[in-house]
Amino acid sequence: MLRPDGATCRTIRCMAVPRSGVNAIDVGGAPMLLTVTGGGDAIHLARTADSSSPGQSAVPDFYFDTSRRWDSTAVANYTAAELLAPRWAETTLCGRVWAVMAGGEGGPLREDGEVAFAPTCRRCLTLIDRYYPKPPADPRFSLVAQLAADVVCEQGFAEVRGVPGDQQTELRKEIRKLVRDRTGHTTKTFCRDSTVYIECREVYSQHAAEHARAGAEAISEYLAADGEPRPRRPADWVVSWETWNVD
Ligand SMILES: [Zn+2]
Repeated sequence: MLRPDGATCRTIRCMAVPRSGVNAIDVGGAPMLLTVTGGGDAIHLARTADSSSPGQSAVPDFYFDTSRRWDSTAVANYTAAELLAPRWAETTLCGRVWAVMAGGEGGPLREDGEVAFAPTCRRCLTLIDRYYPKPPADPRFSLVAQLAADVVCEQGFAEVRGVPGDQQTELRKEIRKLVRDRTGHTTKTFCRDSTVYIECREVYSQHAAEHARAGAEAISEYLAADGEPRPRRPADWVVSWETWNVD
């Protein structure tokens, strides 16, 4: 367009900005909504509602009520139909009642809100494991689990070194089961880097006198050798994942 003074007048066109849908992540093929609860800052996960429950929408209806200007402006980047669809379970994976979806690609849902793209609740993070298919068991899995369980049943503790990350959860589970089946006792397992530690208090206390005697013998041998280092007792509580490479 030519203005009377000859200058060209620019027209600015509004580009249609695509609106965002729900802020969900894919967990083993299942969508899970990132949510916040009434208390605390943690980001939790909610799965889709099962057919027996009515389902909850990602945000309450009033978020899109244009008569409440102070609330409704921040959600303008989101598609109302998607956020108001009652698709979600009423509690988080960790069992809490959740309040509202965490802001995602469309920005905060309220002017004072935040955005999040991953869960931070430790319990929810632990529980999503069960939604992923189990990793295929390594060929040495059963053997190593048996060996470690043998050691725990004999001494009350064991450690398995060099366990690949994707085998650790199942290995800990399997050793706990084997020891429980054989002794009736529960065990605690810990994991640090690639080492899995297993301890059974009951079995350990049954052998406490032996452990004390072995310790006393080691000390007296050390003293008898005038402080010279002696060959150490082999670490017979250690099972090495790498040693048992079977094809
Ligand atoms: Zn949680």
